[in-house]
Amino acid sequence: MELIRLSKSCISEKEKIAVLEVLEKEFLGMGPKVKFFEDQLSQYFDKRSVCVSSGTAALHLALQSVGIGQGDSVIVPSITYVATFQAISATGATPIPCDVREDNFTINIDDAEKKIKDNTKAIIPVHYAGDPGNLELIYHFAKKYELRIIEDAAHAFGSIYKEKKVGSIGDIVCFSFDGIKNITSGEGGCIVSGDENVIQHISDARLLSVENDSSARYKRKRSWNFDVRHQGWRYHMSDIMAAIGSEQLKRFGELQTKRKILAKTYQSLLRDNQKIKILNHDYDKVTPHIYVVVIPESISRNELMKKMLENGIQTGIHYQPNHKLSKYKSNKEIRLPVTDNYCERIISLPLHPDLDVSKINFIVEKLLDNIKKC
Ligand SMILES: *Cc1c(COP(=O)(O)O)cnc(C)c1O
Repeated sequence: MELIRLSKSCISEKEKIAVLEVLEKEFLGMGPKVKFFEDQLSQYFDKRSVCVSSGTAALHLALQSVGIGQGDSVIVPSITYVATFQAISATGATPIPCDVREDNFTINIDDAEKKIKDNTKAIIPVHYAGDPGNLELIYHFAKKYELRIIEDAAHAFGSIYKEKKVGSIGDIVCFSFDGIKNITSGEGGCIVSGDENVIQHISDARLLSVENDSSARYKRKRSWNFDVRHQGWRYHMSDIMAAIGSEQLKRFGELQTKRKILAKTYQSLLRDNQKIKILNHDYDKVTPHIYVVVIPESISRNELMKKMLENGIQTGIHYQPNHKLSKYKSNKEIRLPVTDNYCERIISLPLHPDLDVSKINFIVEKLLDNIKKC
């Protein structure tokens, strides 16, 4: 029995050929392939895009580029990958965990409003499972409190908000291209923004803040006489990664369609089920990165995950709430009603473009079977 993986990279011959081509050039660092991928992305979003080494690096540099640091606080949903929290704490700022909406697990703005402090400088909405939530409300809220918005769109490559691509609108939008995201470059990420200062800062800061080194690297050169004014990092993307990313972006239509069909299949099979709660995402707009369901309180999630694995089906948890991790928990009790209510009951079912509808039928059949047994 072949294991049905929770998620995986889906790689065609085209990515393999593109990587070989880079290897044969014997120039593996940041060069013309990164420039090409960035131009492709800028065209896709109709906005400047800068590539970096990961989605976490994208978030970290985005925060740094707007001056977030020691003494500041940033509001963020507790239900996210720890990457979002680590990016905030890496700047010296404090993440303030916030609750999510019950219907789709995107940020709960009523709760965010309660969490505002004098030192709050930014908010990071996380586009959970690919769903940007109510962006208009989030932007309205940020304007009222003069906050910068850094969208964690790691799940949301390809998603649409009000007829526009996520990334093509907004303040600063960060994507991840890690191995299992909607598109991958192996590891990688990008920042999309209309703010020239942000773009300029990030394109230097990813190369140790060596001023204008990016333009030299694009030509396989580097700067020898330079000045450095800011803290920087080795967060640039390599030509190997960019070559994979470029081919994935060319294939994205196919990858996106597959994800949507599979999620719609889950949705139609589970919609009327009395035991399972599904999240409310509109897959005509959302390109889903994960498929999450809520199981009944009476059932042991560990036992269910074990039984699924015995049936050859890998499952996951997106995510443990960050406000319960040792690094981020507070002495004061933090109450996040929706997060606390659901965090022990969420389970992610396999979703990646190499699955097909018959596999989804099989997974749902086993899920409902095992729920009866648990
Ligand atoms: C994947 C992910 C990140 C981080 O991206 P990496 O490329 O893995 O560093 C950040 N936030 C969320 C919600 C993610 O899923």
